[in-house]
Amino acid sequence: GSAGEFIHIVMLPFMGHGHLIPFLALAKQIRRQTGFNIAIANTPLNIQYLRSTLRQDPNPGIRLLELPFASSDHGLPPDTENTEDLTLDLIGKLFSSSVCLRTPFRDALSDVVTRQGRPPVCVISDVFFGWAVDVANGVGTVNVTFSTCGGYGTMSYVSLWLNLPHRKTDSDEFNVPGFPERCKFHVSQLHGFLRNADGNELWSRFMQPQISGSLKSFGWLCNTVEEIEPFGLDLLRKFIKSPVWPIGPLLPNPWLVNPSSSSSSNRDSLYRQHAGKEPGISPEKCLQWLDMHGYDSVLYVSFGSQNTISPSHMMELAIGLEASGKPFIWVIRPPLGFNLKSEFKSEWLPQGFEDRMSKSNQGLLVKNWAPQLEILSHKSTGAFLSHCGWNSTLESLSQGVKIIGWPMAAEQAYNSKMLVEEMGVAVELTTGIQGSVSSERVKKVTEMVMDKEGKGGDMKKKAEEIAEHIRAAVKDEGGDKGSSIKALDDFVSAIKTRI
Ligand code: UDP
Repeated sequence: GSAGEFIHIVMLPFMGHGHLIPFLALAKQIRRQTGFNIAIANTPLNIQYLRSTLRQDPNPGIRLLELPFASSDHGLPPDTENTEDLTLDLIGKLFSSSVCLRTPFRDALSDVVTRQGRPPVCVISDVFFGWAVDVANGVGTVNVTFSTCGGYGTMSYVSLWLNLPHRKTDSDEFNVPGFPERCKFHVSQLHGFLRNADGNELWSRFMQPQISGSLKSFGWLCNTVEEIEPFGLDLLRKFIKSPVWPIGPLLPNPWLVNPSSSSSSNRDSLYRQHAGKEPGISPEKCLQWLDMHGYDSVLYVSFGSQNTISPSHMMELAIGLEASGKPFIWVIRPPLGFNLKSEFKSEWLPQGFEDRMSKSNQGLLVKNWAPQLEILSHKSTGAFLSHCGWNSTLESLSQGVKIIGWPMAAEQAYNSKMLVEEMGVAVELTTGIQGSVSSERVKKVTEMVMDKEGKGGDMKKKAEEIAEHIRAAVKDEGGDKGSSIKALDDFVSAIKTRI
């Protein structure tokens, strides 16, 4: 970049693709609205990833700051700097080691201040870098926390981590501080690290100080929309007692809600690049297949960029889908226990299944990776059987597509709970993560949700209302600004008054 250029905002995402990608999307959105120059700081290999991504979609106002980090100093395999390079048992180590970025980040930030003679307008850091608040204040600027989840999802994990242990009785159901009595949580909804957390093990010892630290920041940005999550945002605002600016949906592919925001050349998902997956079908073929089916008649089945299901669940799902008689597109991958990169084997599905589905046109099986956004925005797609990852959730809602929830990890069970209880746009196949799903359940839920009348019809109506809200929120024409555009403007005005 040109020497002497003023950097307005320094960002510090956590070391995982699920964080780097939304932070980059946030940087681009802030640039679109303000023209600010932005520097994103991270460890060398993550910077390399961001650099190659920016090479494909150049953005002259985005700079990268490399923070030295040697994974082997922390008992990690060499060259592992991203949660997605690591097996579950080693991820905790990466989290714990991330606090050592404090000094290099402080040095990098001080350099910026020295070079430009005054501090940046603010630092935007990840929830997991609570220490960044003091570092930012130390150089005379403010810190704002960015949560890549929705309002309800953020509120859930923040309160759950800060209020350990969750279960004060033997009951599997319990109340979570900050949520009203009616929003009972079930122990099966907690993901592994949280289920066993008692405040003393590695995960709690990391999470509690980082989240508490982030609560001291000047405000929070949240990847959601005011009108679709009034309840979750209200709880979050009361709990963290500082401003929350809902500036979403920040999608890896913003053209989905805002066709003018990116060219077709960068429509290919950043998530696919990081997952290293070859598309199993061309978008055209997928759309042709969808064209053969009626309005709102197809169920799209996919579990995000990384998840797969067990061999027995794969059988149950196939049997249930076939028995429902409803058309579907299913992104298939080798089941749990097999190398995800290996060739897909017919024996993982019921005998003759692939043949029957293709002859009858009932099912389109797509290997590895599907053009999800094209599928969701096609008029034949009526519902999405999803793991409820936040990107998939926002993508589905932005197209008015109702959801069948099958949460599998992270905060997905809270997203799914919210979609059912607060939005009324989803039915769950199973409540908890690692729950069991039978073919009868798949058939029954599919029939109910795909029905154009009754419950299925109500869900559709609500999903369409939400899609309207999302489209309105990102509107930015002349003086006509939607709530997410305004929230970002408000955030910028608020940080400017602090300097
Ligand atoms: N995705 C896709 N095709 C697939 C699977 C996933 O395009 O076959 C994209 C999807 O559109 C979304 C992202 O990958 O943008 C998945 O993000 P999400 O937060 O839903 O789940 P995660 O992968 O983080 O579990």
